[in-house]
Amino acid sequence: MTTNNQKFDVVISGAGPSGSKCAEILAKNGFKVALIEKDSTWRKPCGGGVSSRIFKYFPQLRKLHPHRIKSIGMYSADYENLSFSWESMRDDSIVIDRLELDDFTRNVAVDAGAELFDKHVSYDFIIKEGKRVGIKTKTQQKIEEFYGKILIIADGMSSKLAAKSGLRKKWEINELGLAKCAIMEGETFLDKKCIHVFFRPYKGYGWIFPLSEKKFNIGCGTFEEANRKYNLNTIYEEFIRDPHIKHLLPEKPYKELWSASFPLPARGVKKNSLFGENIMLIGDTAGFVSPISGEGIHPSIVSGKVAAETAIAALEEENISKKQLKKYKTNSNISKIIRNFQLKRSMVEFFYENDGENLSIMLKLAKQNENFRDIVVNMFLFNAAPSKEFFSKIKDFKHK
Ligand SMILES: Cc1cc2nc3c(=O)[nH]c(=O)nc-3n(C[C@H](O)[C@H](O)[C@H](O)COP(=O)(O)OP(=O)(O)OC[C@H]3O[C@@H](n4cnc5c(N)ncnc54)[C@H](O)[C@@H]3O)c2cc1C
Repeated sequence: MTTNNQKFDVVISGAGPSGSKCAEILAKNGFKVALIEKDSTWRKPCGGGVSSRIFKYFPQLRKLHPHRIKSIGMYSADYENLSFSWESMRDDSIVIDRLELDDFTRNVAVDAGAELFDKHVSYDFIIKEGKRVGIKTKTQQKIEEFYGKILIIADGMSSKLAAKSGLRKKWEINELGLAKCAIMEGETFLDKKCIHVFFRPYKGYGWIFPLSEKKFNIGCGTFEEANRKYNLNTIYEEFIRDPHIKHLLPEKPYKELWSASFPLPARGVKKNSLFGENIMLIGDTAGFVSPISGEGIHPSIVSGKVAAETAIAALEEENISKKQLKKYKTNSNISKIIRNFQLKRSMVEFFYENDGENLSIMLKLAKQNENFRDIVVNMFLFNAAPSKEFFSKIKDFKHK
């Protein structure tokens, strides 16, 4: 049975950080928004590490007092280690449980006036006279139809609608990262204000992110061709038992509170798949995850904000054409993210050649030289482009 033929200005599929941010801005500006969510009790598998930039988009988050992070330890495959603290900077990064973050961002959208339809699975478009005019959803009881002038697809990595839109194909395995993570509880030697990232000798990395005094998020994953070569469960088990991390996690029984695996886009934004006639793809659905680091929360939120602003202009001008929605892609913040991700991608092969040798040299040089360290820190933490000197110094070190 089909019910609910409600009409909206914008229908958004997926209430993760990108969809919720998008819904919030549209609703705040007086537009009627449907925010469709499969299951708001689902915890998105994620490290939950977010830089301080999130406070610009969600200043209200400060009131939740999320767990603050003031330093990072970076390790190469041969366990060369660089520590960096940003204690003196104004805002800290945070680590947050995704159940808490997603609940928070959804509530902000609902408070702004968006209508949340929880336990609704989007599965297809409503097509009338050859045009996409809405989204069909299933609940346990029925099929519902949500009509919208503009449709925004924010339902993540495995989006069926993205593939059905014709804007992009399903991701290939070598375009993805595959990661497993857990929330653990117990006594550790972790500095509770420090996150740790471990690059592997293959395309992959592991992390330990403290969540509170006794809880931490731990995980690891592979990307691109390493997905086929390594079994995720095996490398996860090896990582959590790795003798090199015993100074952080002694061999004590840890209680696993939750664990899960999930894919993520590994090759940056699909820039030719961002928009079409009355439709935009945002967040993970469109590839807004940084290659190498896997940071996707902040760029996804930015994409949600810019898509909302593009939709507002289109609705006000009564022009929802593909040409009009191109403004989403050409927006300066989106272009900056695309360029930044392209640069990171171009560095993947360099970093991981010879079992991650260049990453190891990078950390050695950063320990020896303050200027070089600043380049590394700015690149990994603040998305700055490295200078030519960065590459030449690493190459010179090898040829010494
Ligand atoms: C293991 C792992 C670790 C990560 N660690 C980090 C990290 O530490 N820091 C960081 O910045 N990024 C990290 N990322 C990336 C980050 O999780 C994503 O980039 C971010 O969640 C993207 O937000 P989003 O709103 O686009 O999509 P999602 O967060 O995936 O949200 C999609 C939403 O759509 C809903 N949905 C799905 N299908 C449907 C459907 N058919 N109908 C209706 N609703 C649907 C889902 O329930 C979900 O709420 C990690 C990713 C993985 C897999």
